[in-house]
Amino acid sequence: MTDQADTARWHKTACILCENNCGIQIQTDGRRFAKIRGDKEHVATGGYTCNKALRLDHYQNGMERLTTPLRREPDGSFTPVDWDTAVREISARLTSVRDTHGGKSIFFYGGGGQGNHLGGAYSGALMGALGARYRSNALAQEKTGEGFVDAHLTGGHTVGDFENAEVSVFIGKNPWQTHGVSRARTVLKDIAKDPLRTMIVIDPVRTETADLADIHLQLRPGTDAWCLSGILGVLVQEDLVDHAFLDSRTTGAATVLDQLKAVDVGHCAATCGLDEELLRTTARRIAAASSVSTYEDLGVQQGPNSTLVSYLNKLIWLLTGNFGKQGAMQPHSWVASLFQYSTRPRRTPVTGARMPGGLVPCNVIAEEILNDHPDRFRAMIIESSNPAHSLADSATFAEALDRLDLVVVIDVALTETGRRADYVLPAASQYEKWEATFFTLEFPHNTFHLRAPVLDPLPGTLTEPEIYARLIRELGTVPRSRLSLLRAAARLGRTPYKLAFAALAVLDRSTIKAAPYLLYETLGPTLPDGARSAAVLWALCLRIAHKYPKAMRRAGHVTAEALFDAILKGRSGVVFTEDEYDDAWDYVPHPGRRIPLPIPELLDLHAELDTTAAVHTTEEFPIVLAAGQRRAFTANTIIRDSTWRLRDKGGTLRISPQDAERLGLDDGAPARITTERGTADTTVEIDDRMQAGHAALPNGFGLDLPTGDGGTERTGVAPNTLTDLRRRDPIAGSPWHKHVPARIEALPV
Ligand code: SF4
Repeated sequence: MTDQADTARWHKTACILCENNCGIQIQTDGRRFAKIRGDKEHVATGGYTCNKALRLDHYQNGMERLTTPLRREPDGSFTPVDWDTAVREISARLTSVRDTHGGKSIFFYGGGGQGNHLGGAYSGALMGALGARYRSNALAQEKTGEGFVDAHLTGGHTVGDFENAEVSVFIGKNPWQTHGVSRARTVLKDIAKDPLRTMIVIDPVRTETADLADIHLQLRPGTDAWCLSGILGVLVQEDLVDHAFLDSRTTGAATVLDQLKAVDVGHCAATCGLDEELLRTTARRIAAASSVSTYEDLGVQQGPNSTLVSYLNKLIWLLTGNFGKQGAMQPHSWVASLFQYSTRPRRTPVTGARMPGGLVPCNVIAEEILNDHPDRFRAMIIESSNPAHSLADSATFAEALDRLDLVVVIDVALTETGRRADYVLPAASQYEKWEATFFTLEFPHNTFHLRAPVLDPLPGTLTEPEIYARLIRELGTVPRSRLSLLRAAARLGRTPYKLAFAALAVLDRSTIKAAPYLLYETLGPTLPDGARSAAVLWALCLRIAHKYPKAMRRAGHVTAEALFDAILKGRSGVVFTEDEYDDAWDYVPHPGRRIPLPIPELLDLHAELDTTAAVHTTEEFPIVLAAGQRRAFTANTIIRDSTWRLRDKGGTLRISPQDAERLGLDDGAPARITTERGTADTTVEIDDRMQAGHAALPNGFGLDLPTGDGGTERTGVAPNTLTDLRRRDPIAGSPWHKHVPARIEALPV
């Protein structure tokens, strides 16, 4: 494709700013995105977008792109080097780390964000080539507690059917701004309009979603565990549970019910600062509904007791029989699972922290490096992620990066993490290559969208699969004979190729580890339109055909090959599995397809709630700061151009009118916020959505952007200059970003 010939064409692709990946069309003008509109033919979103998608030109053209690899010199400066030099030197240094300290000392972080997972699918081959065993990504500071609970209960991830639910419950979740539900604003408005349906919001903030809700439990920040415990107490004590469901579909219910009988509902309500009768009304409404769906998100997953909260949330819909029927909670198929669901997760090598989902908890990464243990991490490969900005306690994480023998960053721009790297490798943007996400989280119709490039790659950049392939070639870990054989088979067609691949895998198990690389090098070049990076999807289609044969055929794909062809051609995405509600039980991996309700460790934590601290503020730090609130113009750090925002350009500190009055702060006044870990100056926005004692800073601010004279400039507060590694969940290690004790002071105007 040439950019010139492409001028004024509409290209089907997707928004990359949140997990919903709404289908969009982009009209290009040279390399600019002149117009953007929803793709009405998109299989999942049907033309829907929110305001953010329309600003995507600021992603593509607003940042200072890297167009050559950079190497750090002994004096700390960067030198541009050519790709061959960079690949040769990185490969030699990785080999040295591996040979000296073992492959497991090489740690991989990232592999994609909200819009780009295809490249990360190839990272496993590089890890395999190096003998690396540990990895992590942003999910390990959000979803691992929930994943731990899912592994015990349903055996995998579940989603709510909010389009059909009679009662929808959002816990620490504001879909109006953070989406997560496909076509979120349309769905929320539909629920709000329907007098027979009820929306319940559990959130300390009166969010835009709460404005639409029938019941808003505006609890004290951090008391969600008591709130959910109180609801469960009412369900059990008033005998509102679904006994038929519990008897036929679960095991161990008596253990759970016995404990919940003892819950002091009045005490729970008082701890949350809620009216007890409202808590009881909420529980009764849930129990009376023909279907209930719930959604827990970062408001609770990045706060105190997060794994326990996840368990209690899931008990609410399980005790009321809301699984595997229309309007209720559902499991779903995957193209590639983002998690390893295990009830006994591995442990990290130094601190022994549990790794739910197979991921090193983000809050322990620095501790795994900053020590003298022989098994500490010595090198990091970081792809499409910015942990120096996004992980708790930026200063300590930066110290950890500096302590490593080697840091390699693969990204589109020189990020805060890249600035601390030994090598930075420039990647093509998400609209300059074949790309996809594995957020395939729907039921009964699950969809997948392989996106074709909108533009040619910027000269000097490479796709992530090509970068991994070059490193593996240089490492020389895959015999050429294997590549030759597979290339010859690929020329004969995909059936001979499949047979050859299977034979090689039987003869040598290392074929499986190297599979993404082998596919890229051998099947990839045979794919149409330069879709070489899509090669790994062929193997994933075989897996789908094996795991979900009925659902795949119902979706209209008679074979894995037919599905793969449909994915390659489907510019607006494809439905890859079509389930029926009863099929939900086939996803439950436990004996008799029954859901085991007791999780002893979490029941113990629940039993201790009476003596667990519900308040973490002190006289010195009397405010709870939510560090990283998502707003109308936030998108993590995907868009590095701060001018993309039409409002809230500096990222204000939102505080309640009561706190503003107490602190003598006017709207727009400068203020200083201080936590146990840091201090930042900001601007106050008085917001009556906030309750007294609660404040919020937005996410995605505080990036160090180049000024043109070699320096950098920062807009807004980088939230993790204020957060603390030590405040984390005891099971998942997930951070308390949304619950940081803080102090706010007025600054001279
Ligand atoms: S940010 Fe908005 S347009 Fe983009 S994927 Fe999410 S909901 Fe869709």
